[in-house]
This record gives sequence, structure tokens and C-alpha cells, in this order.
Amino acid sequence: MKQHNFSAGPCILPEEVLKKASEAVINFNNDDLSLIEISHRSKPFVDVIEKARKSALELLNLDNKGYTSLFLHGGASTQFLMIAYNFLNKKAGYLNTGTWSTKAIKEGKLFGDLIEVASSEDQNFNYIPKNYTVPTDIDFLHCTSNNTIYGTQMKEFPTVEVPLICDMSSDIFSRQLDFSKFDLIYAGAQKNMGPAGATLVVIKNDLLNNITREVPSMLSYKVHVGKDSMFNTPSVFSIYVSMLTLDWLKDLGGIPFIEEVNNKKASLLYNEIDRNELFKGNVVNEDRSVMNATFTLNDEKLKEKFDAMWKEARINGLNGHRSVGGYRASMYNALPLFSVQALVDVMQELERTA
Ligand SMILES: *Cc1c(COP(=O)(O)O)cnc(C)c1O
Repeated sequence: MKQHNFSAGPCILPEEVLKKASEAVINFNNDDLSLIEISHRSKPFVDVIEKARKSALELLNLDNKGYTSLFLHGGASTQFLMIAYNFLNKKAGYLNTGTWSTKAIKEGKLFGDLIEVASSEDQNFNYIPKNYTVPTDIDFLHCTSNNTIYGTQMKEFPTVEVPLICDMSSDIFSRQLDFSKFDLIYAGAQKNMGPAGATLVVIKNDLLNNITREVPSMLSYKVHVGKDSMFNTPSVFSIYVSMLTLDWLKDLGGIPFIEEVNNKKASLLYNEIDRNELFKGNVVNEDRSVMNATFTLNDEKLKEKFDAMWKEARINGLNGHRSVGGYRASMYNALPLFSVQALVDVMQELERTA
């Protein structure tokens, strides 16, 4: 049996997706060719990327609403600079809610003035800032919906008059939101969609009118939109697996269905963290992430024992990020409820035997 995989990224994918993907590497479409050795311009692959692009928009309720979806290279980290290169003309606003926002800010500063509209750095990013005022004279507001490392998640998004750009790498397709609030959404595939290598970008077509700078082709949203996400050879394998995962999600009932499952998994674990006196959560309750739960042991002396116990229970990927320590349970879409139960069982066993 497969291990219980709580890895933060690259992360767990559905079993049936992995199976189909492995078959396609040997023989795709019964053509006696591998998916990864055929032309990306051939009909079988063009069908794949078109389907993946369409499914992404459908799941987000953004099809036929003036948005284009793209699968680009370079991870979410390349989006940090691409966004600023394309859209930061004078001054932009950023919410600083963790490591990834901090990195986006660093890249943004290379292209113009930047203001941190709000930050939770004062409390080591253990909460989401609230009640801040967003200036109206900025080119865009950038935010990060889910803070993969610290374990906080934005439950609400500011209503703004300027373009709203969001890094949704670690909670895309996990919960219902009014996605039409956003002018650009991006997400590295490897957190909730597929293998590393592709980055989903969903961009409102009107936003392209805001570009004034001359941008190199590979970093230009206009170029990628104009070429239907095929300006250069796309990450064929990552896009294929992403297509399969999006199909899997659509078949299950889409985001409304998975959101309910995700909420169940998160409640199960957070209830145990709150009930069990050996553990405590790292972040403010109301801002807790449904995807990445961070917690620590109250007594570090139990660490060795707890670590041995969860490894024995065939749990993988529970160590916190190196910058935070403690534990992090990442509960992405494909993680079954019984894996969370397995972790809770271990926490209760530790309580009984400590
Ligand atoms: C993992 C992650 C990134 C970095 O993604 P890469 O694809 O490795 O560049 C950026 N933002 C968030 C929120 C992440 O979780």
C-alpha cells in the first residue's frame, strides 16, 4: 500500500492519475509512441493542452468570461518577475504574508516602486493582516492565497479598484472562491495539480492592455496568449498529468465537492491539535490553512518518539519547512481522509504512551 503522503510539494497525486500517466509514457493513445517522444504540435498533444487549458477555466468558473489560461515554464518563481516585468509601470502594492510573498516582493522591486500594503512579518507570519487600506494609485495588488510554509490562508480577499493578482500555488482548485475577482492567478503545478515543470497562469484578457514596457518574448504574457500557450515547447508531461488531475477533479464533482472533503480533513487534524495537550498549532486559528497545517510538540523531548511513530505508520513528509521547524501536514486534494485519520491515530497513540 502507498504511504500516507503529506509532502508539501511536489505532492501527492491521485493513484489513477499516476497509473494513466505511467501508461502514457510507454504508449500514448494506443499509437505505440510515448507521450514524451511525440511532437508538441501533433494533434494528440495539442488536444491535451487544449483540454487542460479548458478544464482549468471551467473548474474556476472562468470559461467564456474573458480569461485565458496558459501553462508556462519556470515555476511560480518566474511569475514573481514576469508579473512585475509586464505590469509594474510605476508602483505596485504587495501583501507580505510569508516566504513566497517576500520573494515576489524582492523580484518586483527590480522593476519599479513597490509598497508593502500590509505585512504579518512582525509575528513571524502566523496570521493574515486585516483592515488595511489599499491605495488606488498602484498598478496592481499582489497577494498569496495560501502560505505553504507558515500554514496561513486568506479567507477573504480585498475588493480593490486596481488589478488583483494572486499566487494560488498551494490552494488552487481546493476551495470555492469568486475567481472573477482576480485579474491574474498563477500556480506552480506541483502543489495541487501535477508534477513540477508547468505553471498555470489564468489571466484576464483586458489586463494585457496595461503592458507598456518592451518585454522579452519568453516573459511576455502577450506573446504566450497570442501563441495559445505554445510559443515554445511546453512541459508536455507535466501538462498531461495536470490534464488528468483536472479530469479526475471534474469527475468527482469539481471544486464544490473537493472543498467539502478538504474541510473535513482539516477539521479532523485541527481538532486533534487543539484537543491533544501534547501539541499546539503554529498560527492564529481563524487564519489556519486548510491545505498546510503547521504544529509543534509542546515538549521537544517527545520528538524522537513521535518521529519514529509516524514513520512506523508509513507517514511521509511531515517535517516542517526548514525555516519554521516543527511539523507540517500538507493535505492537498488527492490526500484521502484516511491518511489524516492515520496521523490523528498516531497523535493519540503518543498521548496514551507518552
Ligand atoms: C511552492 C510555492 C512557490 C514556488 O513555486 P516554484 O514552482 O517552485 O517556483 C511559490 N508560491 C507558493 C505559494 C508556493 O507554495
